[in-house]
Amino acid sequence: MTDLQPARGTHDMIGEEYRRFQHVIDTARRTAATYGFEEWATPIFEDTRVFARSLGDTSDVVTKEMYTFTDRGGDSVTLRPENTAGICRALVSNGLTQSLPQKVFYAGPMFRYERPQKGRYRQFHQIGAELIGVAEPLADAEVIALGWDILSALGVAAHTTLEINTLGDRESRDAYRAALVAHFSAHRDALSDDSRNRLDRNPLRILDSKEHADKPFIATAPTIGDHLTEGARAFYEKLKEHLARFDVPFVENPRIVRGLDYYNHTAFEFVTTALGSQGTVMAGGRYDGLVEEMGGPPTPGVGWAAGVERLSLLLAEPPAATQPVAVIPVGDAAEAAALSVVQTLRRAGIRAEIGYRGSLKRRMEQANKRHARAAVILGEAELARGVAQVKNLASGEQSEVTLAELVARLS
Ligand code: ATP
Ligand code: MG
Repeated sequence: MTDLQPARGTHDMIGEEYRRFQHVIDTARRTAATYGFEEWATPIFEDTRVFARSLGDTSDVVTKEMYTFTDRGGDSVTLRPENTAGICRALVSNGLTQSLPQKVFYAGPMFRYERPQKGRYRQFHQIGAELIGVAEPLADAEVIALGWDILSALGVAAHTTLEINTLGDRESRDAYRAALVAHFSAHRDALSDDSRNRLDRNPLRILDSKEHADKPFIATAPTIGDHLTEGARAFYEKLKEHLARFDVPFVENPRIVRGLDYYNHTAFEFVTTALGSQGTVMAGGRYDGLVEEMGGPPTPGVGWAAGVERLSLLLAEPPAATQPVAVIPVGDAAEAAALSVVQTLRRAGIRAEIGYRGSLKRRMEQANKRHARAAVILGEAELARGVAQVKNLASGEQSEVTLAELVARLS
């Protein structure tokens, strides 16, 4: 069996690694609740059209990274590469487009066929927030503030920078698109194959390219600032004012475009220099056209997603495991009593474990190996008097405690 390993790009999470992972999700979930976000769980696979429609047919995700297959019934399904499309699909499927706003939090696995490396996997996990139904820039600022508060609560905010940009409205984007086409067309032959392809179909995407060949032309490309309409500029200014009021520090980066088709106005990323080239930990923006793509009425929306593995790597200290209390019976009669003692402790919310076999010495060794904080030693003579020996395993101090007082002493 030793040749069976986790599939390429997947990983097992055990012990400290899983505690880090769980801590990220728990912290995010708790923080999102304070903002009034409710958690949704949507399926891990969807009709392929959910992603093909929403992500756009020139995105890397759709062209190269999706796990798509035909199931036994002949339907094309896709393991979700991201969850914004699924949430918008669910909003429409569940008839919630008239019950707005919806403030949604989610956490779960995503799948992309990528070249695995540190911070980049084929099965990875995202937490995310979506605020659907609010057209005002206050919504954008609020979801960004939520992201910032989560990073702060995790103690990683100091290592990240929030970069924001605007993609403007339709009119701004059309004007910008024309300027980009003019710019990149002059260098058509030097561009990477992908970017040459994008030039005709979605030139904004070129700005998102990671290809070396494209870098010099991206650096000299025009920025959207000169092409914003009055309305788009006002929206962006309001966003910045709100962020300042929410006390969220940011820098502007005109190179931020989101890789996906459905974004407009706000685009943002939280980036770090601590993870090499996998520097984006959280990314998002406004997607006013997406719900309509899913068959609903025109509905504004804004949100973000963050990589749980990348956030876990940034955590300074792994959260400590809770230390158990070890219940140790000495002798057969005590063994029976120990079962009821351990159960009483558990039902009082105390992490309690019982040694499965062996002498007192052996069971004490096991308790130390399990990093127990205390041992409750139950001898037959003591049981007859309704007491137990409680040993503090850190200090070695031992005292007699009545069974009735046990829970209070160990809480
Ligand atoms: P990248 O530029 O790193 O490929 P992306 O733009 O594809 O990221 P998004 O689609 O915006 O990423 O996903 C949001 C977040 O999910 C990313 O910022 C990152 O933290 C995380 N993420 C994306 N792809 C992966 C992956 N393959 N493995 C681990 N985390 C990932
Ligand atoms: Mg990617």
